[in-house]
Amino acid sequence: MSMGKTVLSSKDMLKHLVGFDTVSANSNLDLIHWVRDYLAEYGVKSTLIHDAQKNKANLHAVIGPADKAGVVLSGHTDVVPVEGQAWDSDPFTLREHDGRLYGRGTCDMKGFIAVALAKVPEMSKRPLAAPLHLAFSYDEELGCLGAHDIARHLDHLPVKPKLCVVGEPTDMKAITGHKGICDFECTVRGKEAHSSLAPYAVNAVESAAELVAYIKSVARRMQNEGPFNKQFDPPFTTVHTGAIRGGTAVNIVPNLCEFAFEIRNIPEIRAEDLADEIRQYAFKTLEPRMKEIDPKSGFEIRSAASVPAFDIDNGDPAVAFVMALSGANAAEKVSFATEAGLFQNVGIPTVVCGPGSITQAHKPNEYVSIDQITKCENFMDRLAAKMCSSF
Ligand SMILES: [Zn+2]
Repeated sequence: MSMGKTVLSSKDMLKHLVGFDTVSANSNLDLIHWVRDYLAEYGVKSTLIHDAQKNKANLHAVIGPADKAGVVLSGHTDVVPVEGQAWDSDPFTLREHDGRLYGRGTCDMKGFIAVALAKVPEMSKRPLAAPLHLAFSYDEELGCLGAHDIARHLDHLPVKPKLCVVGEPTDMKAITGHKGICDFECTVRGKEAHSSLAPYAVNAVESAAELVAYIKSVARRMQNEGPFNKQFDPPFTTVHTGAIRGGTAVNIVPNLCEFAFEIRNIPEIRAEDLADEIRQYAFKTLEPRMKEIDPKSGFEIRSAASVPAFDIDNGDPAVAFVMALSGANAAEKVSFATEAGLFQNVGIPTVVCGPGSITQAHKPNEYVSIDQITKCENFMDRLAAKMCSSF
């Protein structure tokens, strides 16, 4: 008998998950521990993979026979901040109105996690021929920080899963690719002087500008010469500088300038190769001239967040499988990034498919429609049926 065990509908499960304020800056441990205890009620053991500060954790759990190759349901537990957004109600209290469930993370992406968790009581009773893996990460919104460890963990399992579904909001469509993202921060150190003595100093703003101009030339080359992939919009790798700060007054040669640039690569290009080219220009062409005047001047280029590009052939059996579960009749590439490339990079065929629309994500009054939740429940039911039989 399941008397006394927690049984929640998808909606009530979502209500519970939204109640945990897991904005990326905060710990997600309250949510993770609650999920761990809930799974334990059904005899499902969780493995927690903590961050270095022991302030956040990924959760991995297996339902069914772990010695068979199964399916991973992957989701991130963190959400984006609500500061500065005009919400009509408390973002961390689920509100239902007109067939929609409002709250931070309803769409991105606690909706998918809620449906998966609500199915656990039923799944744990079914005679699964292959296991279902739950893989919930932290800090996706900060650049997929937690998922690197979860992907590594799955890679080292005795039996590697044969499919991963990342439940980011896609209106339950099957998504088979997106660009990668590599962000960089650059600090340029110069040598200060009165502007009348400019030739004897090192102007950090000008050195930064020379590198920014070079970055722009790389961007133009990508746009004009490719490589191109028409499945993406725009159909080439984009490179841009997004922020710059330096200098204090027009009569002072500035000794410091900082800027940030980003590469969004199609799968045909390695972002690291472009970053190397930019580094080479900074260190081999620009820096020697600066160091001639002051050896302490120069560039420092640090890589910030990075998310690998993701691309699976639309004809891959994993794609056909997910399309059959979701009822989708076409596979598409998208412009937003997910954790999918990390799983693909450890050899697990991955498809992105989840409830809600990306146009609702990161906004005030974020919502997921009940219709989408129902579609996701149907997806899980079909998945469970498949995994009881021939999978
Ligand atoms: Zn997301």
